[in-house]
Amino acid sequence: MPKVKKDEKGKETSIHPKYDAVRVMCACGNNFETRSTHKGDIHVEICSNCHPFFTGKQRLVDTAGRVERFRRKYAKAGEAAPAK
Ligand SMILES: [Zn+2]
Repeated sequence: MPKVKKDEKGKETSIHPKYDAVRVMCACGNNFETRSTHKGDIHVEICSNCHPFFTGKQRLVDTAGRVERFRRKYAKAGEAAPAK
């Protein structure tokens, strides 16, 4: 069988534009190399280094706190509600 080079998605690279290494630069200052058909550097506003999902533990805790407060409020309202 002939050896066919395939990319991450399993597509034959021979029928696709050449994937060149490009530098992705984020607004947070982080930058990393990736492979893309994109020519030149790529500028992004958010990356895995600064995305709240990865860095916002504080925010996640705060969100959990809000949920907790909501639950308490809801439970209190439930207690106060007259029984049918
Ligand atoms: Zn970033």
